[in-house]
Amino acid sequence: MQFKRTSHSLFGLLASSLIAISSAAIAANPEPSRTELFNEALELINSGKTLEAADKYAALLQQDPEDYSIETNYGYVLTLLGKNVDAIMHLEHATQLNPKYDLAWLNLGIAYQGTGDKQKSRKSFEEYLKLAPKGEESDRIRAHLKIENDENTFAGGDTSTTDYVQSITARSRSPWPSERMPIKVFIADGSKMEGYKPEYLDLAQQAFADWHNAAPAELSYKFVDTPSGADITVAWIRDKAQIVSISEGGDTTYLQDGLGMKSAEIKLLLLDPAPQKLTPRLMRWITLHEVGHAFGLLGHSPSPTDIMYTVAPQTVVGSMPELSARDKVTISKFYTADIGTDWLALNDAGVDAAKRKDYTTALKKYAEAMTLTSSDVPRKNAVRSHYAFAIQLIQGGDMKSPEQHFKSALTLEHQKRDENFPILVEAYARYLRMLNRNAEASAIEKENH
Ligand SMILES: [Zn+2]
Repeated sequence: MQFKRTSHSLFGLLASSLIAISSAAIAANPEPSRTELFNEALELINSGKTLEAADKYAALLQQDPEDYSIETNYGYVLTLLGKNVDAIMHLEHATQLNPKYDLAWLNLGIAYQGTGDKQKSRKSFEEYLKLAPKGEESDRIRAHLKIENDENTFAGGDTSTTDYVQSITARSRSPWPSERMPIKVFIADGSKMEGYKPEYLDLAQQAFADWHNAAPAELSYKFVDTPSGADITVAWIRDKAQIVSISEGGDTTYLQDGLGMKSAEIKLLLLDPAPQKLTPRLMRWITLHEVGHAFGLLGHSPSPTDIMYTVAPQTVVGSMPELSARDKVTISKFYTADIGTDWLALNDAGVDAAKRKDYTTALKKYAEAMTLTSSDVPRKNAVRSHYAFAIQLIQGGDMKSPEQHFKSALTLEHQKRDENFPILVEAYARYLRMLNRNAEASAIEKENH
């Protein structure tokens, strides 16, 4: 039996990398009107009026094109608007104007991330961490870089344009098994919780429906009214301590056994990722992303255009996030195509089946596992299952079928002749004598002496 637990990053990096000009700065600044404008723009961002804020910063830049703080904030706002290429131009300029300004590097890292340029993003984040090792965002950035590093180790070389199955299967080749369909899903009631919005329930339900629709025949689920007996549970929380990594606004933990996915637990955090607000738009992305994990996609996509990318989109405007074509192809392939498996998972599946006394399934799994490994483990398990199957058949009154299993077990044991061997020979001989085939029984005993 194989148990794994993991968690996944949720919010990504919605960095609070804005600077307000303090009263001390105002005193030093001969242009109070400019400062006013600057702080007005900040106000606009904080109240979600990103477009207006961008206009204000653009006006400020006209007055003072060489001000690194304006460039930094303007770049940040452009990132929020999804204009990453423009943002990068202004943020690069900011880092040239003042290479020691940590927030410019932080925002630059975020903007590069939005374009999918991981290398430049990482370089900018590392610069930020050098300048601000104990900055407000440092722990989150470090956690993010670590996750990204882990993902690279897993999914290196996934260059497919149609899907990211390779990145996913590098992590796990265990979908929910058909035996567990429809998957029973319980969504907790969050209506009494601070920060909860009634539409969040619809978003959570819709996320399950959207993934299901991408593999409608193979991946099914139903909502249930109580958590007991549910396979997937969705909980709303406000306690960050329940979340494994600081970079995560929530997470999904799961259990697998030899059959595949066994259970999953999604926790969704009802806190604002300051300075942004937790909006239905962001919750839409989060629910889709986490349900993707709960449905067995344990890894991440290497492309920021996919819901299963490691980081939530930074933009605050635009349409609701939807599954990309690549997301849909990936889940479909994960459930319908031959994604292969590893011998350990097959061996585990065999052990599970044997425990249920389903020896037909067990033997099938062990046989597959044996073709993939030189390990002795599945062979030994197969011998035991053949033997147990034969005994089960005899006890059930079937005297015809056991013979093939004794024979198969002896064949598998023939070279090794380990501790199982004499027991098998004895049982087979006894079985033959029950059928009055005494001569054959003696021959077997003699032959395998
Ligand atoms: Zn994730």
